[in-house]
Amino acid sequence: MKNWAGNLEYSAASVARPGSVEELSEIVARAERVKALGSRHCFNDVADTDGVQVVLDRLPGSVEVDSVRRLVRVPGGLTYGDLGVALEREGWALHNMASLPHISVAGAVQTGTHGSGIANQALASAVKAVEFVRASGEVERLEEGDGDEFLGSVVGLGALGIVTALELAVEPTYTVRQQVYEDLPWDTVLADYDAVAGDGYSVSLFTDYAGELVPQVWRKVRSDAGGEGGGASPSSFHGARPATRPRHPLPEMDAVNCTQQLDVPGPWLDRLPHFRHEFTPSAGDELQTEYLLPRAHAASAFEAVRGLAGKLAPLLFVSEVRTIAADEFWLSPSYRQDSVALHFTWRPMQAAVEAFLPELEAALAPFAARPHWGKLFTVPTAELAELYPRFEDFRGLVSKRDPDGKFRNRYLERVLA
Ligand SMILES: Cc1cc2nc3c(=O)[nH]c(=O)nc-3n(C[C@H](O)[C@H](O)[C@H](O)COP(=O)(O)OP(=O)(O)OC[C@H]3O[C@@H](n4cnc5c(N)ncnc54)[C@H](O)[C@@H]3O)c2cc1C
Repeated sequence: MKNWAGNLEYSAASVARPGSVEELSEIVARAERVKALGSRHCFNDVADTDGVQVVLDRLPGSVEVDSVRRLVRVPGGLTYGDLGVALEREGWALHNMASLPHISVAGAVQTGTHGSGIANQALASAVKAVEFVRASGEVERLEEGDGDEFLGSVVGLGALGIVTALELAVEPTYTVRQQVYEDLPWDTVLADYDAVAGDGYSVSLFTDYAGELVPQVWRKVRSDAGGEGGGASPSSFHGARPATRPRHPLPEMDAVNCTQQLDVPGPWLDRLPHFRHEFTPSAGDELQTEYLLPRAHAASAFEAVRGLAGKLAPLLFVSEVRTIAADEFWLSPSYRQDSVALHFTWRPMQAAVEAFLPELEAALAPFAARPHWGKLFTVPTAELAELYPRFEDFRGLVSKRDPDGKFRNRYLERVLA
């Protein structure tokens, strides 16, 4: 079994697909090493194990909305795509989505996955309760009111147990319009990135850091009371002009894979992701890396990476720049800092990319850049411990919850050391 990108073959001795939480508990209690596998969209070995790989697609459970408490209960194996369809059918929505709907809710939350928007927190921020099968096989529920243990566990790198269900905050459904703009001057971005990033519900820049123009800006606005009302998008976005046909972030790819653009309003689940559920997202044959750093350092970080444009060119398909609002989850890359995220979609040249990452990371180190847990990075543990004020507490939580290292794998040995 390989991951989505095909750059990793999982090393599991066996795969289990339990049909009930009880069956899952027995598997976990018996196993020496065990790990949940979500939708396999990570680019590193965070989900790997040499023991039992547990896939939750047979776990029963439906999507249940509590319309009074504005919560949805989600089974551990569900994807955002399927959740979105179920919510929309009943008139509900999530606050944000990642660039693709194909990923599992539990796996995405465990690695701190995010979308964009200056006021939008990471996807984990919607989590109000989470249920785990612990190393002993016991089932345990944590809620927001449980304080530290909850804040340490929601973004947990799969280290604390197998998530069987989550409760997420929902809001009434809303529509979104999406317009791509072309050729945004870098001078404008560098002069006032907050003005650019804040002009829309979700704003993404797509760039290769070369030249004086950012080739694409993806701007998504809510057409409900939470947005700027109906009407068309402006005919200029900070000096960039509206695209006249649908665009793919990669210039050479067909926009058929992308969600509807050109300002046509549509449901949140069909506009907030860049890529359509029924198509391959992004390039397909690719690798990814991403760093989140305080938004206040955005312009300096852009300048640092622009200085590397010549070295990026042979490796890079495209880079996406997004914003994420601060949250309280100990291991969230946007923990207690309003962040800008510099994402890199690499050509499938893993050795060359990994050889270059230390140079990229050194350029971003002055800005306290935290790597995305599910993508390629080489930041050593000592630096991670400095980047995350609650890192030591997380280590303590892992030792307490998994004393025999049942959920540990090579990734956690490396990252938590
Ligand atoms: C094309 C593409 C686009 C992407 N776009 C974005 C984006 O817009 N924003 C962003 O932040 N990231 C993005 N990512 C990264 C992706 O969202 C994360 O890597 C995410 O973790 C993938 O979820 P998954 O279910 O595939 O995780 P997996 O790789 O299957 O697992 C990830 C981790 O979660 C754990 N896990 C999975 N299920 C459970 C469970 N039930 N209980 C406990 N632990 C569990 C695994 O053990 C592992 O530790 C993208 C990836 C791809 C391939």
